Amino acid sequence: MAQSLRGWNAIVTGAGKGIGKAIAEHLAKEGVNLGLVARTESDLRQVADSIRTAYGVSVYTSAADIADRASIESAIAQLKDQLGSVDVLINNAGTAKFGSVLDMPVEEWERIIQVNLLGTYYATRAILPHMVERNRGHIVNISSTAGEKGNATTSAYSASKFGLLGFTESLMYEVRKHNIRVMAILPSTVNTELARNVGLKLGDEDHQMQPEDVAELVIDSLRLPNRVLLKSATLIMTNPQ
Ligand code: NDP
Repeated sequence: MAQSLRGWNAIVTGAGKGIGKAIAEHLAKEGVNLGLVARTESDLRQVADSIRTAYGVSVYTSAADIADRASIESAIAQLKDQLGSVDVLINNAGTAKFGSVLDMPVEEWERIIQVNLLGTYYATRAILPHMVERNRGHIVNISSTAGEKGNATTSAYSASKFGLLGFTESLMYEVRKHNIRVMAILPSTVNTELARNVGLKLGDEDHQMQPEDVAELVIDSLRLPNRVLLKSATLIMTNPQ
């Protein structure tokens, strides 16, 4: 039987908008208390206020750049103290820019790896000792279909998301003996600011994947009995326009 998440505590990175915000809302709806991370404080405040009002769970926020190790380590430590314990880490914060290898400035290429790959590693490493000590934990990493298939102009983004899958699978094998489930979700294009900013084609609401669709899959993966884990799941559109 699917397990209840009520009373669990979760940290969600990139929770100020888009997919992270939808995951935070869906977790709160299940009765999960939250620690939210993004760089923009006003976004975090807004999301936290509306979730507290709608679902009555505890919500704490900490503004941090996941690409900055000291910044994300101190955010995770603060949120862990406020929540008391952490059952779930959702590594969702990410960035995208497309361009050819020669056209994209080196600093931009490096930044994509720094945020999507190293940022996820920093956040995970900051909470892992706590999960190992508790002999319990759930880590969900948001990769992308660009993490299983390269394309012209996506070298930096694809390298970061392929890398994230390698990290996820290796960590999963490393820590499952501690009852820690590490999972990867790979959505194709989702209707968010990130997709609009990089010029991805978006269809109408009946056809285009929405942030809440990804959130539903994340909740379903967490509700699976603890004796199993969803290693990775690719979410694509049924009938794209
Ligand atoms: P959005 O741009 O809509 O939201 C991204 C969120 O992450 C924002 O809250 C942003 O806040 C935060 N964020 C970005 N960079 C950092 C950082 N360095 N440190 C902390 N927080 C950060 O993106 P999406 O919701 O579309 O994307 C979420 C994840 O899903 C990403 O990992 C993305 O790669 C992945 N994905 C997206 C797809 C899509 O088509 N939209 C498809 C497949 C995967 P702030 O800027 O204030 O920090």
